[in-house]
Amino acid sequence: MYLVLLGAPGAGKGTQAATLTKELKLAHIASGDLFRQALSKGTELGLQAKAYMEKGQLVPNEVTIKMVLDRITAPDCAAGIILDGFPRNVEQAKALDEALKAQKKGIDKAVYIKVSEAELLKRLTGRWICRSCQAPYHEVSSPSRVKGKCDKCGCELYQRADDNTETIKKRLVVFFAETAPLIEYYSKVGKLIEVQGEGSMQDIGARIIAALKVKKSNN
Ligand code: AMP
Repeated sequence: MYLVLLGAPGAGKGTQAATLTKELKLAHIASGDLFRQALSKGTELGLQAKAYMEKGQLVPNEVTIKMVLDRITAPDCAAGIILDGFPRNVEQAKALDEALKAQKKGIDKAVYIKVSEAELLKRLTGRWICRSCQAPYHEVSSPSRVKGKCDKCGCELYQRADDNTETIKKRLVVFFAETAPLIEYYSKVGKLIEVQGEGSMQDIGARIIAALKVKKSNN
């Protein structure tokens, strides 16, 4: 199964993708994580992306499309993927469709996780992430047991450099201008599923599974 998760920054794409990946046995490809890994390794790709990420802008399509299309040819993607944060504009969606078509595959569903702007701001400004396992926390709604430490692996929690109010507002503008047209793009071909993204993590996950009409794996 080939799934795209659509949603504004803070909509919970990463959180839901992590659960869905396990339940549906799919590979999780998060374009933002690929850029952050490249940045922390100091590679050419990381350097190309850095300034755009800091400003809350999209990294140019030629860089992003190549990075993601290369990644989805890896063996772990053969049984299907969940794309989180890609595509983020119509050009990326078309490039993805063409690449999958060449492999006689295609996107099955695009899940749009809908969250109000006020809630997005609240979530992102209080978000803390584990530096090692990427588990997300929120300083008010889901704090870690020990301040600054991950409950799962004990590693240090950090706030993303682009999770500050000024950059968050720019990222939301970019979402509504460039990514929101993908809602229509996938709706026109009958692939869009819209899910209410507020409530508990488990409830949102259950809504997605129900909307996809798939069975959870028990192991
Ligand atoms: P995310 O972790 O998905 O919020 O992405 C963090 C940042 O990485 C974004 O604000 C962009 O600068 C960059 N980025 C991630 N995915 C894409 C994409 N599909 N197209 C362009 N830039 C991206």
